[in-house]
Amino acid sequence: MILIVDDTPENLISLKKVLEKNNFEVDTASSGEEALKKVLKNSYVLIILDVQMPDMDGFEVAEAISGYSKAKETAIIFLSAANTELKFIAKGYSSGGLDYITKPLDMNILLLKVKTFYRIYEQSRKLKEMQETLLAEIEFRKEAERKKDEFISIASHELKTPLTSVKGYVQLLERSVIKGDTATVKKHLEKAQIQLEKLNSLIADLLDISKIESGKLKLNKQEFSIDYLLDNVLEIMHQSNPTFKIIKRGKANCNIFADEMRIEQVIVNFLTNAIKYSPGTEEILITVNVKDEQVYVAVKDSGIGMLPEQLEHVFDKFYRVEETSQRFQGLGIGLYISSEIIRRHGGEIGVNSEYGQGSEFYFIMPINLKTEATTN
Ligand code: ADP
Repeated sequence: MILIVDDTPENLISLKKVLEKNNFEVDTASSGEEALKKVLKNSYVLIILDVQMPDMDGFEVAEAISGYSKAKETAIIFLSAANTELKFIAKGYSSGGLDYITKPLDMNILLLKVKTFYRIYEQSRKLKEMQETLLAEIEFRKEAERKKDEFISIASHELKTPLTSVKGYVQLLERSVIKGDTATVKKHLEKAQIQLEKLNSLIADLLDISKIESGKLKLNKQEFSIDYLLDNVLEIMHQSNPTFKIIKRGKANCNIFADEMRIEQVIVNFLTNAIKYSPGTEEILITVNVKDEQVYVAVKDSGIGMLPEQLEHVFDKFYRVEETSQRFQGLGIGLYISSEIIRRHGGEIGVNSEYGQGSEFYFIMPINLKTEATTN
């Protein structure tokens, strides 16, 4: 938009008409003060400024405008009937003007100048936009690169821990075998087995990430009972975490059509996190129900909880809460994989949490069966 500033109404009207006829959007101000107010409120590409005005002259207005950050990119053309002396022209340029035109105006020349300034403005605006996009993109790469490096270092560390344990147990096993101590052999074998399982699940998560990235995470859907699945999961979880009491509330009382192993993976991820991030507590609540052909599963703990700004990122790839990442082992990919699994089933994953009070992770997804669901 162009702003014309002139204290003579006839000048304003005639200039406005010519510019509007040439498809420019035009605004007017009849004094320096009015112009300054308008510049603060609106964005102008160009200001055509009369020099001789009472109270505040054009040079003063231009000087004030050049101090506004909002008008940094605005071009100013001075119009003057009398002050054609060089010193006035020089003053015009030094107070922030881009051009100086004397009256009587040659409308064709003014129009050419206005068009040129407009084009320059448009080009510089586009250049600035491109520069900003490029800068943002570079930052985003940089950030992705940093996260990846960090992830590789955490992943190597996480893989090395169980591997070192297995190596240790195998050495101990060798000694126990030589001694013929079967009881100790059995004990070491069990411990090595637990570490191998950890290793296996870490590698499975890493493979899942690459499957998700390449769009190759396939779902193997079949009909199964979610209640039966939950009972099995709870039994296994209880065996490996005997100090935790996992209380189940509700029943689905129906089959669902989904990838059973993947749904189990999500529930195990919720439960493992609930146990891991709740030191000093011993109870976890798991709720299941079916409503409007949708199954709802929620895992609630009374652990460390999270702050609202942390909750926003909890399903992001590689995200781990910074303050607690040293205290608890992990790769920050379990919930990302879980959210992809639920999303691929047409469902929704979410979390409610309060810092220091605990968290509740849940998912809702269609049961995907043609038969009616029975609710309890
Ligand atoms: P990991 O536990 O391996 O770091 P996840 O993707 O499973 O990765 O979880 C991402 C992050 O979310 C965790 O690092 C932790 O900071 C936070 N988080 C997940 N579950 C809970 C929970 N039940 N209570 C508190 N924080 C949690």
